[in-house]
Amino acid sequence: MSFVAENLADIKVKVGNGITLVAVSKTKSVELIREAYNCGQRDFGENYVQELVDKHSALPEDIHWHFIGHLQTNKVKYIVQFVYLIQGVDSLKLLSEINKQAAKYGRRIKCLLQVHIASEETKFGFSPDEIMDLAASGIEQNYPNVEVCGLMGMASNTDDKKLIAKEFNLINSLFLEMKKVSETCKTLSIGMSSDFELAIENGSTLVRIGSAIFGERNYAR
Ligand SMILES: *Cc1c(COP(=O)(O)O)cnc(C)c1O
Repeated sequence: MSFVAENLADIKVKVGNGITLVAVSKTKSVELIREAYNCGQRDFGENYVQELVDKHSALPEDIHWHFIGHLQTNKVKYIVQFVYLIQGVDSLKLLSEINKQAAKYGRRIKCLLQVHIASEETKFGFSPDEIMDLAASGIEQNYPNVEVCGLMGMASNTDDKKLIAKEFNLINSLFLEMKKVSETCKTLSIGMSSDFELAIENGSTLVRIGSAIFGERNYAR
């Protein structure tokens, strides 16, 4: 059995049924993705547009491609035809561009709003207050070609489990509030290789796992 098959089998047991496992394949080869595919894995996550476009054309059509990183507005058009779920929508400008491009193809694209929960400074993501305002503002009517299915977040990059749990707990409470006002809100995307168990304890419905399946990434691209 290949190391990908072994890792995947192990992670699947830990993640359990009822939670979507997205295999984060950024920087990894088409061959490695195919190994995971041959084990039945269908959800893959990428965060570079060109890489996603290339992999999409090289791999089977029944893969669900998740865009998981910061998406530049001017690049939406390259993935809009085939992307399954855009995680990490971090501005209204982006949401509006996705809506516009999706309309061209007669699609309604699933999106998650990215919430800034980490204590680290970042340019990306909505604040918890902004999310609640947005949820109450009738997103569905304003952006008919997008389906806002929930929230996505990344915890602080730290070994402090208590801090991570606190951040996951915060986004989970926002998610539960949002569910009360939105019928389409079903997905809470939290948890990566180092913290998915904590994320699951705190309500995750979708985990994004890369290095624990495909091995460490070499960032020299
Ligand atoms: C790379 C990445 C992941 C996966 O990280 P691992 O630590 O390799 O599991 C998850 N989410 C996002 C947004 C990422 O960019």
